[in-house]
Amino acid sequence: MPSRIADNLSRIQQQIADAASRSGRAASDVTLVAVTKYVTADMANELVEAGCLELGESRPQELWRKAKELSNPDICWHFIGHLQRNKAKRSLPHISLLHSCDSNRLLAELNRLAIGSGGKIDGLLEVNISGDASKHGFQPDEMNAIVAGLPDLSHVRIRGLMSMASLGGDRDAARKDFERLRQLRDQLADHLPSGVSLSELSMGMSRDFEVAIEEGTTLVRVGSALFEGVDV
Ligand SMILES: *Cc1c(COP(=O)(O)O)cnc(C)c1O
Repeated sequence: MPSRIADNLSRIQQQIADAASRSGRAASDVTLVAVTKYVTADMANELVEAGCLELGESRPQELWRKAKELSNPDICWHFIGHLQRNKAKRSLPHISLLHSCDSNRLLAELNRLAIGSGGKIDGLLEVNISGDASKHGFQPDEMNAIVAGLPDLSHVRIRGLMSMASLGGDRDAARKDFERLRQLRDQLADHLPSGVSLSELSMGMSRDFEVAIEEGTTLVRVGSALFEGVDV
């Protein structure tokens, strides 16, 4: 019998497919990142067993712990929270996409660490699109300058933008935020430095991922909806 978590997963996958088809997109254009920050490694493993290999964490210590406890080598970890520079070195070996590149100082440190390890880091630029004072991320009006500076970061591959809808807003407010992020991406795309592409958008969480898909996101970060009805 499938577990409650596996049930929730297939329901959400269906909702993703439906939202994609409503907007004339293929379901395969949208990647579900299952956010496991609320649950134990055992519960996260139920998602893995059910075929979900894209997992997200927002705190370094939780990432380190779960990356160690979940041994499936096919898991791709997405880091979605604020990453302090002094935790970057230990975190990077686990991260396949860092959604939350939120300052020039972090970008410089990531580049330095990647040069040292001989690898490259894939990331998204986090934009504070709603202007909430409590949120991390670049301001929309600094994005031109940030993007123009990307070629200086030889070992960081920025692949798109990430954002969160305004705190306490409803779905209509979320739609406006998501639309603004997509428009910002489209404006930036008109004059990208060579070698830079912003094809990915990471927006939408449990309460608004369907809206985000309708507004063009390629990654949704869903946590609590996956664990509905489960004691966590
Ligand atoms: C926790 C978290 C999510 C998932 O939120 P839910 O509402 O539980 O789906 C998505 N993105 C970020 C950045 C988060 O911290």
